[in-house]
Amino acid sequence: MSIPFIDFSEQYGTTKEEIQAGLEKVFQKGDFILGQAAKDFETSFANYCGVKYGIGVNSGTDALYLAIASLDIQEGDEVILPTFTFIATALCVSYAGATPVFVDVENDTYNIDPKAFERAITPRTKAVIPVHLYGQAADMTEIVAIAKKHNIKIIEDAAQAHGAKYQDKRIGSLGDVACFSFYPTKSLGAFGDAGMIVTNDPKINEKALMLRDYGRQGRYEHKIKGYNSRLDTVQAVVLAAKLKHLDQWNQMRAKNAAYYNESLQNVKGITTPKLKSDRTHVYQTYAIRVNAKRDQIMEALKSKGISSLIHYPIPLHLQEAYKELNGRRGDFPVAEALADEVLSIPMFPHMTRQQIDVVCAALKELV
Ligand SMILES: *Cc1c(COP(=O)(O)O)cnc(C)c1O
Repeated sequence: MSIPFIDFSEQYGTTKEEIQAGLEKVFQKGDFILGQAAKDFETSFANYCGVKYGIGVNSGTDALYLAIASLDIQEGDEVILPTFTFIATALCVSYAGATPVFVDVENDTYNIDPKAFERAITPRTKAVIPVHLYGQAADMTEIVAIAKKHNIKIIEDAAQAHGAKYQDKRIGSLGDVACFSFYPTKSLGAFGDAGMIVTNDPKINEKALMLRDYGRQGRYEHKIKGYNSRLDTVQAVVLAAKLKHLDQWNQMRAKNAAYYNESLQNVKGITTPKLKSDRTHVYQTYAIRVNAKRDQIMEALKSKGISSLIHYPIPLHLQEAYKELNGRRGDFPVAEALADEVLSIPMFPHMTRQQIDVVCAALKELV
């Protein structure tokens, strides 16, 4: 049995009729950019997160960059973020001419270590970007307390955690502003690139609305130099149809993860994900830790038709793109060990127990 890393065909089956009817309306009406369906989706997604405003943009990366720009972060400023994340978390800081400051992550949740965040604060620090990696919220109580004490803004990188909860609040509502990606493989995925900024702050909302749309307020009155980064209506139709099922799909992911955990818990050489008791994990990615034989394990899985991936093999401080920051091996030991050991195995809502059994049997044989 060959097992894909993700398979969203069942999701399409469930939402197909609604998507096709919605698209037909958009095609008839022709309101392709920020049309009615896009505005409606902004409202429903903001409501879903428990915040006032949703600003639809072109991608998760743009959401992060426009959030940074909305906070007036610029050259000379520093923004603290975990080194163990996707590079977009840092790129948004660089686009603004500011400096990303990398810190290490926690050994159990793989999320930003609040103590490391506090140690990295300087008079130039303007913001921190906690990433809710793989679908589990970062330690927001600690991060909020430290950020308040030092007057630092919090930008949640929520690109992997749609619908996750922290102390009964949705992620996306825990900082000053939060950024979502709707890249097709995310838990809430469009049929192309899309993203959203969500916030309770009317000033951030106002600025982000201008920034995504050429800096304009009237049709041809431009208050600031903005960009072209708007959520298109076609993607919004897809996302609105899928949003109605998101909680159910997240529950299905959690069930699959529980079954994985149970099947792999006593296997020597495998560490399963740790879930903190005050939050939920939505398992956009199910990553285990394996020993040094990871490459061989991946190859052997592949020969059995089982897909796996590494999120992420190189921490940001060791990326060539950031060589000017002079990161060295040894700077962030937890992140470096994770980069060598994590392995993401197939995970999607409609995965069957039989498929999970096949993956686990293969892993048990290999480690
Ligand atoms: C996917 C992702 C992004 C970028 O989102 P895009 O929509 O692909 O631009 C940013 N941060 C994290 C943590 C991500 O996983």
